[in-house]
Amino acid sequence: MNIATWDDINANLDKAANVYNNFTYDTETDGGILTKLDEVAELMNSIETSINDIGLLYNRLDEKYDKFTDFHDTMQTNETKLKESLKAIREKYRNLISDMKFRISELQKNDKTLIEDLTGIYNLLGECDNKLKPSPEEKIKEIYPKGPPSTPEDAYKDIVSIDVPITTKDGIKKTTKINVNKAVAEDVKKALQVAQDAGFKVYDVQGFNWKGDPDHLSQHSYGLAIDINIAENPCVPIEQAGADNIAWKPNENEYSIGINSPIVQAFEEIGWSWGGYWSTKKDYMHFSFTNS
Ligand SMILES: [Zn+2]
Repeated sequence: MNIATWDDINANLDKAANVYNNFTYDTETDGGILTKLDEVAELMNSIETSINDIGLLYNRLDEKYDKFTDFHDTMQTNETKLKESLKAIREKYRNLISDMKFRISELQKNDKTLIEDLTGIYNLLGECDNKLKPSPEEKIKEIYPKGPPSTPEDAYKDIVSIDVPITTKDGIKKTTKINVNKAVAEDVKKALQVAQDAGFKVYDVQGFNWKGDPDHLSQHSYGLAIDINIAENPCVPIEQAGADNIAWKPNENEYSIGINSPIVQAFEEIGWSWGGYWSTKKDYMHFSFTNS
């Protein structure tokens, strides 16, 4: 099929206009009117054909567009399937790690001499587990699909004040107020309650705090991280992890958070991560929704 272009159609319309404008009626000879009308009719036909051609062209484009849409849908389905597979693989390995952690903690209960060796393995498992978790970017999208806030005023719009359980150093159980992102408020409350019920004493807890450099804001800036018992759980460079001269003494001080502390388990149950499992530095006080 010869498909007419808009230029062809315009040229034909010009020709038709020309024939019409130059038409004169001659009463004696009829001015060749029939011939002229035939010419006009022929041009009008060709214009109609051209318009039909254009219509066919549009239909073809429509078909192609449908195919493209189908292709796009298939790609989207594939992407979703891939993401689900990745999630399933991550989950599988994380369950395996969690099972190994449990076995190690059981072994430690029976044989105290194993503690030193097993602590290293346990810590390694924790680091592996952290690496299998969704990336901080993926996690932050769950809360802020269009990107996180860039000013404290914007961030504060999502912050709520909640009452959470604490245990004072005198052993009194009471509640204190902390500011966190409303999306995680219930989970944080739950984890702190579970930890308290399991015997871990939180006497100091901090949440929302706009800090960090503008290119790399702290998760506290979004109310998605909390710090526990800061004095006994410092943030140290990796070389100082477990060093004698730092305040972190999980085997001696009940306020220090160790790998076997119920509070680590309690936060893992709500999908949070502990800074004590990081491999670049150790932020022993820090728990976060995004693992950063
Ligand atoms: Zn922190």
